[in-house]
Amino acid sequence: MCFALVAHDARKDELVEWVRHNKSYLSDVRIVSTGTTGGRISESFPKLAVTRLKSGPLGGDQQIGALICEEELDALIFFVDPLSPMPHDVDVKALTRLATVYDLPMACSQSTADLIVSGLCGQPTA
Ligand code: PGA
Repeated sequence: MCFALVAHDARKDELVEWVRHNKSYLSDVRIVSTGTTGGRISESFPKLAVTRLKSGPLGGDQQIGALICEEELDALIFFVDPLSPMPHDVDVKALTRLATVYDLPMACSQSTADLIVSGLCGQPTA
């Protein structure tokens, strides 16, 4: 199982908390993240398998898009900042479009991300 985890700056703390809450589900999941998000996750959870790509604005979101095209991902958790005007708009649109084309489960909020992780990863490990 491989999940892409990405968060804009205003929501990075929320994503780290989401990972903490779902750590038991994620222990056997390979995680791919944009640079800064991945740094935050590995710093907080050194035991999780996190691959860091480039930072989002430097092309990391596009690298995630390429993984969607290659059908390497099982889910995309993308905590976009909805309160800033047009936040990284082209990247959000590109990933939403590709996730739709490839019918990849995608979440932009905690509740949807919870449904995806529990649906795909089954029972949490102890
Ligand atoms: P970052 O990129 O994790 O490197 O901050 C996230 C994004 O801008 O999509």
